[in-house]
Formats: sequence, C-alpha cells, structure tokens
Amino acid sequence: MKRIRSATIDGKRHRIVWRPLGKEKAHGLAWPDECRIDIDSTLTDPALIAEVLIHEALHRIFGHLNEERIDQIASEITNILQRAALIADDEE
Ligand SMILES: [Zn+2]
Repeated sequence: MKRIRSATIDGKRHRIVWRPLGKEKAHGLAWPDECRIDIDSTLTDPALIAEVLIHEALHRIFGHLNEERIDQIASEITNILQRAALIADDEE
C-alpha cells in the first residue's frame, strides 16, 4: 500500500493527510470547504483504507448526500473491488 499525498477528486487536486484520528473518533475526514481529506494513519487493513478513501472522496464529490448513502455506496464499491480481487478481502 502506498500513502498517496494527493489525488484528483471531481477534477480538483486534493491533499491527502495521513494522521492519527483517534481524537476525532473517525477513520477519515472530508473537509467541507477545503480540497483535503484526512485518513487515520493507524489503519492497516487495505480493504478498510480503500473504503475510507472512497467514502471521503464521495463526501467531497457529493456533499449533499447523507452519511447513510455515502456509507452504503463506499461499502458497495469496496465490495466490488474485493470480489474482483483488486484489494484483499479480510474474510478470505
Ligand atoms: Zn462520512
């Protein structure tokens, strides 16, 4: 796994900050008014990191979607990637 420091999301270059998010009690954060997402640097499971990256990117793209929808879509996309063996599946 590579801790990428930037990514293009919805056509805009975003900063990706890896830092412990224990205080925030979150795996990831999408900043509402900044091209930035933060990912908990203590995470090690590739599937979970993939899901958090997708989740936070969806927040940046679809700011109006509620948490439940974002959660559902991120989980479904992660599942597709796992089934296609593009990311490791913990349950296997
Ligand atoms: Zn969220």
